[in-house]
Amino acid sequence: MSVITIERKVLEKNDAIAARNRQLFAEARLFAVNVVSSPGAGKTSLLEQTIHRLKGRVRVSVVEGDVQTDLDAQRVASYGAPVVQIVTNGGCHLEAPLVRDALGSLDLAQTDLLVIENVGNLVCPANYDLGEAMKVVVLSTTEGDDKPLKYPAMFRNASVLVVNKIDLLPYLPCDIGALIRNAHQINPALRVFQVSCTTGAGLDDWCSWLAAQVAAVRA
Ligand code: MG
Ligand code: ZN
Repeated sequence: MSVITIERKVLEKNDAIAARNRQLFAEARLFAVNVVSSPGAGKTSLLEQTIHRLKGRVRVSVVEGDVQTDLDAQRVASYGAPVVQIVTNGGCHLEAPLVRDALGSLDLAQTDLLVIENVGNLVCPANYDLGEAMKVVVLSTTEGDDKPLKYPAMFRNASVLVVNKIDLLPYLPCDIGALIRNAHQINPALRVFQVSCTTGAGLDDWCSWLAAQVAAVRA
């Protein structure tokens, strides 16, 4: 039982700092999303395409979380967005204090949309509030249509599901209808976008929705 107590204390401390992050985001009038997925679902590809499409309309800044390397931050930086890399050195999720420390390297007053790309992992990131307005879960069609049932906490705590790699559907045993039904069984309120970062399908809808969220925060 002491393990449970320690875990609870860790989460309480995390949540207190997450609340302070949320206050900073409100003061800067920016929209913050916490993007989560398994490794390889395409979080960074989605981010690249999003930055590209919102250029000139929405000022995007990025916090990149990775277990090792700054490869993803280099990719994002090449698209022209301010980015700060958090290397967790084996840690399998981001925590609010890590994000708070990273914010010091970004100009929040010059940011409309803050994207926090979490470490690739569908388990513990579900439990850690970072101060975001919403969690966005990215799921690729290659992962199968039963994933929402296997990782329910993540889908319950997310507000948005982006199904990526829909261009591969003809070659996969993934039933997109079943995938979305499974996701809605866990969380009926989940907003779903179907995209391909390879063909560009669905990305305009996704970016229009993001731009509308930003406009609502800034209004
Ligand atoms: Mg990444
Ligand atoms: Zn973890």
